[in-house]
Amino acid sequence: MTKTDLCTLFARGPVFFDGGMGTMLQARGLAPGMGAENWTMSHPQIVRQIHLDYLEAGAQIIKTNTFGANPLHYPHFDEIIRCGIGLAKEAVERSGRPALVAYDAGPLGRMLRPLGPLDPDEAYGSYADMMTCAEGAGADLILIETQTDLAEMREALRAARAATRLPVMVTATFDNAGRMLCGTPPEVSAVVAGSLGAVAVGANCGTGASDMIPLLARMRRATPLPLISNPNAGLPQTVEGRLLYPEGPDLFGARGPSLIAAGASAVGGCCGTTPDCIRALIEACRGVSPPTASSAPVMLASDRVVFDAALVTRSAVTWVDEVRGALLNDDADTAAEALSDAAEDEPSLMGLNLCGAAGHEAALGALLSQITYMIHTPLCVTADDAAMLRAFLRGYVGRAGVFGCSAAHEAECRAVCREWGALWLS
Ligand SMILES: [Zn+2]
Repeated sequence: MTKTDLCTLFARGPVFFDGGMGTMLQARGLAPGMGAENWTMSHPQIVRQIHLDYLEAGAQIIKTNTFGANPLHYPHFDEIIRCGIGLAKEAVERSGRPALVAYDAGPLGRMLRPLGPLDPDEAYGSYADMMTCAEGAGADLILIETQTDLAEMREALRAARAATRLPVMVTATFDNAGRMLCGTPPEVSAVVAGSLGAVAVGANCGTGASDMIPLLARMRRATPLPLISNPNAGLPQTVEGRLLYPEGPDLFGARGPSLIAAGASAVGGCCGTTPDCIRALIEACRGVSPPTASSAPVMLASDRVVFDAALVTRSAVTWVDEVRGALLNDDADTAAEALSDAAEDEPSLMGLNLCGAAGHEAALGALLSQITYMIHTPLCVTADDAAMLRAFLRGYVGRAGVFGCSAAHEAECRAVCREWGALWLS
């Protein structure tokens, strides 16, 4: 499966994903709180049968039972991934249907700095190892899902793109207020994921379908990419210590056309959904046309807001000149203070001049770790040195705009922009 093939599939949509796996396994005895991926190797027949049930219901893309199989939690994560992909491929073969196997990568389960202790490079390395293994095991696609931290989502995507040639899709998880755990809204996650090469973006888990409709509409205005919607079977209620999902197949399925009308090219389910839910969803969406192509503009983004790149000029940026002087003195605290003072006036964009500041990468990294998830104004930089630009983009959790200031280093700086999804502006 190439990226072009996948784009064609989505354009012809709607495409149907399968539904929940963990909650299906819990219904068969998996202890609540135990990772579903544990059953991949211990209960292969059950996992394969659930895949088959989803395929028979009509799912066109099935997710492997590998959600939590990562190096931070399982020394043998690679065996689980290979086994999980093998079971899904066997199910597709047995079903005789032309379905695709998406390698399912959930979050690592530890927050990245600054929200938690995990080093971004370690997260990147873990994802790269997982993705390499998945491609080797024959996955058709990669689905990075249930992402709650924008910084982690970036590392997962960068790793998938660097380590494999597979098309990558990303879905993040939002609460009822439309925020990821790190506070990021749907339009920002869509812009950042798109900037790092995702073929399709969207939302899964967290909410039921009705609460996902406004999230899709917000993504639709910010990205031209196909959108994926994999909601839960409603908002769960706790009954006698167990989570119960209120929507049965009819109610769940009936929401499908509204998800597509809100912009989803692909729909399926997450926690609490069953093969019957997917069957009802497909039935309810029969004859529904795929969404028309979005004409969303190219956007920059901070962790909280997007900004139309067509409106960005050097003079539209509030340049915070004190930052450069502070960085030259390796004084990250003063630089952070200058930025936060400038942000108080609520400019629409702020700019950092990094020209002539080569060699001060450590101070720049320290500055960014102080302002990540604290200053929400989108940032632009002007840079003449690839190492400084890389240090900036590595720490900037968003999609930055970059102005060049040295023809001699332009090619190098543009390459760094591509690697980190930043937008080259001149
Ligand atoms: Zn879920």
